[in-house]
Amino acid sequence: MLRQEFPRQIKTSPGGGMIPFPTRKLIGNHKPSSERNLVDITEITAKTALVRSKIPGVPFVINPYLGCGHGCRYCYAVFMRRYSRRHPQAPWGSFVEVKVNIAEVLRGELRRKKQRSQAFLSSVCDPYQPVELKYRLTRHCLELLKEYGWGISILTRSPLVCRDLDILTAAPEVSVGLSIPTDDDRVRKILEPQAPPIGARVAALRRLKEAGLAPWVFIAPMLPMNPARLHELLAPYVSRVMLDPLNYRGQVRALFKRQGWDYALTDAYAAATRASLEKLFGGQAD
Ligand code: SF4
Repeated sequence: MLRQEFPRQIKTSPGGGMIPFPTRKLIGNHKPSSERNLVDITEITAKTALVRSKIPGVPFVINPYLGCGHGCRYCYAVFMRRYSRRHPQAPWGSFVEVKVNIAEVLRGELRRKKQRSQAFLSSVCDPYQPVELKYRLTRHCLELLKEYGWGISILTRSPLVCRDLDILTAAPEVSVGLSIPTDDDRVRKILEPQAPPIGARVAALRRLKEAGLAPWVFIAPMLPMNPARLHELLAPYVSRVMLDPLNYRGQVRALFKRQGWDYALTDAYAAATRASLEKLFGGQAD
């Protein structure tokens, strides 16, 4: 069984109260990290599902959730709090707003589109963060994209993506990437406190590959790591990796310093790590 570290309980709203998080069957659970053991879940409605994107090669993005229960400390999407009426100041990772009508909205949009295109899940949240187990919004969106013949592109930190292999293997054009920014689970626990362990992500790569998809890995941001060990973990399963440096260094500067990782905040570290990974992966690294 794949295992994941994240909250055992979530707080729901409206309705309130605490409910157990139904994780054991699909991705397992174990003790949450102490200060982040609750996530405030709010149900909201969305006016749009497909959003035009400026990301090269990505015509549209879909974000079924506002906020992300994975709570990565370096997350670039923290600015999304400004779009939250309820959580504009809340710590990133402590809340998730669930766009409960997103599939319905998406169906209407797909019906009105004259041409097929491609959608990426997701640009400012993880489409397979823990609440997806309960709400299945990503799955519903994938079903619709498949039905309308749209291309599907996914990037996640969670092995929960394997739940949807039935759709992904039947859809016409699919790309699935896993974010794996370090080989070291101690680093992961500090910087991605509620995201699944590295081993679970590697196991997901294996399942995706066995299912006939050609998964890729986003090594981003390049965190403290042993590049050779990371290559050893990934090489059996991926034919392509993409690399990106740590872009929002100010956000984690104090945390990195407390851990003795000052070296990993420098341009020299980013350049040396990129050079090592490019050498190890050969022509497979972008
Ligand atoms: S999984 Fe992605 S969106 Fe979620 S907190 Fe981490 S970096 Fe941000």
